[in-house]
Amino acid sequence: MTQPNLTQFVSALADYDPNALPVAQAQRIVQDFVQPILGVETVSIWQALDRVLAADVMSPISVPAHDNSAMDGFAFQGVDLLPETATTFAIVGSALAGRAFEGTVGHGQCVRIMTGAVMPAGCDTVVPQEFTQNASETAVTVPRGVVRTGDNRRLMGEDLQEGKAAIAGGRILRPADLGLLASLGIGQVMVQRRLRVAFFSTGDELRSLGDELDPGCIYDSNRYTLFGMLTRLGCELIDMGVVKDDPASLEAALRTACANADAIITSGGVSVGAADYTKQIMAQLGDVTFWKIGMRPGRPMAFGTITSKGKTAYLFGLPGNPVAVMVTFYFFARDALLRMMGASAVPLPLLRAASQTDIRKKPGRTEYQRGVLSADALGAPVVRITGSQGSGVLRSMSEANCMVVLRHEQGNVRTGELVDVVVFDGLT
Ligand code: AMP
Ligand code: MG
Repeated sequence: MTQPNLTQFVSALADYDPNALPVAQAQRIVQDFVQPILGVETVSIWQALDRVLAADVMSPISVPAHDNSAMDGFAFQGVDLLPETATTFAIVGSALAGRAFEGTVGHGQCVRIMTGAVMPAGCDTVVPQEFTQNASETAVTVPRGVVRTGDNRRLMGEDLQEGKAAIAGGRILRPADLGLLASLGIGQVMVQRRLRVAFFSTGDELRSLGDELDPGCIYDSNRYTLFGMLTRLGCELIDMGVVKDDPASLEAALRTACANADAIITSGGVSVGAADYTKQIMAQLGDVTFWKIGMRPGRPMAFGTITSKGKTAYLFGLPGNPVAVMVTFYFFARDALLRMMGASAVPLPLLRAASQTDIRKKPGRTEYQRGVLSADALGAPVVRITGSQGSGVLRSMSEANCMVVLRHEQGNVRTGELVDVVVFDGLT
């Protein structure tokens, strides 16, 4: 990895203050600093869903390969349509999808044609069956004005042209893309290799599932949240469990993570808390900056690289609070991981919705509030903030279907005012 030095990189920025970093600036630093991981593999299209396409796919054929009919009906030459009256054509054959009409269609003649059938030579127009009159085995009448020349004909190459890029490299392949590839006869594609992400939780109070919950201890939930979010991104996961707040364990964990992963995501230990060795060890092993970001939830975050035995991995030291972990993941780590994966920018699905309540908001920091997006009586998007917005309250995150993003400069929001919303789930 050829990587600039983060400490030098940030110190060259104007207005850089790690202790009061606006969200937009932190996002830009992260995004500019990370580099795509190189490495590709060829997979069958059955394995290609949600993978990142490594290079443009050129269309080897035109789709459709021939002009064909968009309707069930009758094909003929448009010039034969009489301007003032109905036109009657003699039926000289039929064309089915996959079985073309081989003969010639003369003036005054037509061919019975099915959707998808190749347009017979000379024909340029199709009248849908339901618009015709007096259809028999041998003749059919087209009333005046129901079609014009060229109607209901799909043109060769109107979907894709041979030799042109059908899908651009960097695309995260969606169901429609798989179908598109198949329509080109392509059964294998080159994709970026999966990004390897190691993740662990830090904290002496954390217990793993199945362990006894000693007094004052809590179950580690962040690893499961991270597991879900990273899985959705299509990463290869290395779960390193809970790591105690002691220097030797943290160092060992970071070195192992570095040896095996492209990126490391930790939670906890990056705030000002006294019992945390996390920051100290991160700083020792790498080129890491510690931020207090102008946001809520999620103020503290560590970002940079860790190096061990000549190998370097990106580091995201996320805060410990369960909601802060999700917010910092979605709004900082996600875009950076996508960039590492070689994906072209994939903006979070954004919407503007009317707030159903007043929302208190101080200018000077970005707030991410958990919301429930729905439609009002007229079908317009409206959003309601879920109950408690405490950064440890995971239930309100679980109940939410979106985050309301209140911008840095924004002040109090009044009922009915439009706010930015990032929806959690989208149809892709
Ligand atoms: P820290 O930044 O390590 O001081 O953690 C902030 C808060 O988040 C504390 O209340 C921690 O107990 C809590 N916390 C940290 N890590 C986790 C985790 N993995 N699962 C649930 N809560 C956590
Ligand atoms: Mg801690």
